[in-house]
Amino acid sequence: MGLFSIGNMIIRSLFNKPATLMYPVIPRVYEEKTRGHINVDIEACVLCGICSKKCPTHAILVDRKKKEWSIARMQCIQCNCCVEYCPVNCLSMANTYTSPSTEKITDAYAKAAPEPAAKPVPEAAAPVMDAAVDVEPTV
Ligand code: SF4
Ligand code: SF4
Repeated sequence: MGLFSIGNMIIRSLFNKPATLMYPVIPRVYEEKTRGHINVDIEACVLCGICSKKCPTHAILVDRKKKEWSIARMQCIQCNCCVEYCPVNCLSMANTYTSPSTEKITDAYAKAAPEPAAKPVPEAAAPVMDAAVDVEPTV
C-alpha cells in the first residue's frame, strides 16, 4: 500500500461517517430476517414433539404430561429447523436476540388448562303418560 493510498484513506476517514453506531445512544435496528430467538404460540401448539426431535442441539423439551413446551435459550443456535418442521406453524423466529446472561436460561410455556365442561342441562321431565283409555272390546 503506497503513501498515496494511505493518505486517501486518512482523508476519507476524516470526512466520512464512522462505520460503527453510538450504541446505546443509537439503538441497533435488526434486519427483518435476522435470526434472533424462537417464539412459540403455546395455545396453538399440539405438543407433537417434532420440534424437539428435529432440534440439533436438543434445546427444546416437550412434556405432554405437564402440557409444557420449553426451550434452553443458550443452547439454541438459531438454525430455524424447528420453525420449518412445526406442523401447525406455531413457532416463529423473532429478529431480536435473547438478553445476555451469566446463567443458562430455560423458558417454559404451559398450555392453559381447559375450561371445565359445562354441566349438562337436565332434560325436561318426561311427560306423564295419560291414563290408559279404556277401549270397549268389539264383539
Ligand atoms: S432454532 Fe434450531 S437450535 Fe434453536 S430451538 Fe429451533 S431447532 Fe433448536
Ligand atoms: S412441532 Fe410445533 S406443534 Fe409440535 S410440539 Fe413443537 S411447537 Fe408444538
